[in-house]
Amino acid sequence: MLISIRELELHEVTFSQELRPEAIDFGPDLQQHTPLRTQGRAELVQERRGRGQALEDIRVVGDFSTQLELRCARCLEPVLRDVAGDFDLIYRPLGADAGMEERSIQGAEADVGYYRGEGLLLEDVLREQVLLAVPLKAVCKEACKGLCPRCGSNLNFEACTCQPVSGQRWGALHEIRDKLKH
Ligand SMILES: [Zn+2]
Ligand SMILES: [Zn+2]
Repeated sequence: MLISIRELELHEVTFSQELRPEAIDFGPDLQQHTPLRTQGRAELVQERRGRGQALEDIRVVGDFSTQLELRCARCLEPVLRDVAGDFDLIYRPLGADAGMEERSIQGAEADVGYYRGEGLLLEDVLREQVLLAVPLKAVCKEACKGLCPRCGSNLNFEACTCQPVSGQRWGALHEIRDKLKH
């Protein structure tokens, strides 16, 4: 859905949508598992810029929720996670801060985004918000045993015959110590 500047100049825009999986490309490591629900509103905000100049910023306020399919950080099996969040964002016209990089990095300004041309795609806003809400490290279960570093077996499902690397070293060390003691 395009949040169009032309429409915002006439009135505030409200939205309430359910985006099917694949409506947004989250990259190869992340699948949207259920519809992405979102609702909110967008409005134009005049931002003063000295000498009588003003920017037409788009302010988008809303929330979202969906279920994502991630990969377990240890065994790489699929993991489902609910994600949800609120947002209150400002988008400036692209180029508004050209030559002012230092100023735009400071403090809350880091949250400012940019739109170009006709307006702002709601899908782009949601893509960024969902990616920010993704847990950094998901595991299928706390006790997940992960993959064998030697043969790659999923140790939750099968026991392999590889010797644990660290276990062997410690074993040898203990043997030497025992010999030294006696
Ligand atoms: Zn796992
Ligand atoms: Zn193994």
